Order: sequence, then structure tokens, then C-alpha cells
Amino acid sequence: MKFSNFKMNVSRIGSFFKNLLFPPKCVACREFMQKDILDKCENPFCEKCRVKWELEKLSRCPDCGLEMTVCNCAAPLLKKSGVDEYVKLVNYSAKNKSVGKSAILHVKRTKNARVFDFFATQLSYSARIKNNTSDKNTVIVTYVPRSRNSKLKYGFDQSEELSRKLAKKLNVKHSRLFDRRGKQKQEQKKLGLNERRENAKNLFFVNRSKLEMLKKAERVIIVDDVITSGASLYGCIVALKKHYNGKIICVSVARTGKKK
Ligand SMILES: [Zn+2]
Ligand SMILES: [Zn+2]
Repeated sequence: MKFSNFKMNVSRIGSFFKNLLFPPKCVACREFMQKDILDKCENPFCEKCRVKWELEKLSRCPDCGLEMTVCNCAAPLLKKSGVDEYVKLVNYSAKNKSVGKSAILHVKRTKNARVFDFFATQLSYSARIKNNTSDKNTVIVTYVPRSRNSKLKYGFDQSEELSRKLAKKLNVKHSRLFDRRGKQKQEQKKLGLNERRENAKNLFFVNRSKLEMLKKAERVIIVDDVITSGASLYGCIVALKKHYNGKIICVSVARTGKKK
């Protein structure tokens, strides 16, 4: 038996036990996904939900009318942030059901490599993220860190997971640039847009040990799972701009906003 065959068989046996112990479920409808028990399941969605996901990607942005994968809008709070690109895959509203929404809620609670891998792959197709011209060493992929309480509660940071996978797919550096300051004084939801913007300015700071690395950077890709109010992302952008004036690209799986 050739070594490559042997390796393939070992991996199939691995998949067998994994499928037996944790039968793969669709992250949107939670149905079991019919699969050969020896095959590794790589899709987060069942076939029906996968079709819905692709349709959600084609849906039009309520603000600019373009398809979500080409639209460059973000939350109103982020309008004057001076960021070059806002890349995302889908848009969902808080009220309506959607497979994008189910998947996002799922990865906030469950560290599911299959889903993170799928999202990272889909995002890596975006021409706006890819960088073929400049030196790979000048690109940093980073993320909006989850609050400490939330990270303790769930045991992981979903944006960190996603950003690591994306960096790997793009074959560029990954680094945790941002840290969170202590607790927020007021609840963001109750504030007006300007107040939120002012508040967000002090939410994050750039880790001192990363300043040297930032000097050589030309592109920083900030990953967040979903853009809702945009306050956390805005806080990171403000913190970053104090030390860096190169290109900034914000990447998220989804944004929330009303549908027209
Ligand atoms: Zn499904
Ligand atoms: Zn748009």
C-alpha cells in the first residue's frame, strides 16, 4: 500500500468517527446532512439552505442597490471613517429569518471550524480583498476582539477564528492588533449617532508591541463577524489611524440593515 493511500484511509477513518459522534447538521435549519459516513463534511449548509445562501448573496443592498458582494456600504456610523472597502457577503434584518443570520448566530456560540472555513473561503474570493500586486509581507489581517466577558462565556472569539482562516487562505500575516478598554459606561443602544461615534472612539487601542509591525504595513484587513451598529469596528479604525495611514479594508460575513 502506498503511503498516500494509507494517509487517505486514516483520514477517512477519522471522518468516520467524527461523523458518528457528531453527525453534521446544517447550521441554518439544523437538519442532519445526509452524507457518506466516511466522507469529511465541508459544507455548513444543507443543499436547500446552500441555495438560499447563494440567493442572499445576490440580494440587493437597501442603500445603494448593488448586490451584497459588490456593495461598499456599511453602518451609518461608519460613513466618515475613511475606510477604502467594506466587504461582506450577505445582509440580514433583525426581524426576518435568513440562513446568513442563523449561521452568524451559530458561530457566536459554537466554535465550528467547518463554518469558519466556509466563510473564509467565500470571503477570500473577493477581488477587493485579494492583493496580487504588492508584497505579501506588507499585509496584516486582524480582527475586532470580542468583549472579555463574551470570550469567557463562549471560550473563543469568532472574529479571531474567522480572521485566522482568512489570513491563511490569503497567505498573509495574522496579528491581534487591537485591545479593548474596560467596560463601556453607557449602553450603546440608547445613544444617538454622534454620541455613539464619540463613545466608540475610546473603545479600543492598538497594542504597543504591534507598532513596529504597523510601520511597514500597507494594507490592514480588519475582520468582524457582522456589522450591526458598526461601533466596535469604528473604534478599531480610529485606534488604527493614530498609528497608520495605509489602506484599510473591513471584512465581515454579514451586515444588518432593513430590506427595501
Ligand atoms: Zn439547511
Ligand atoms: Zn450598498
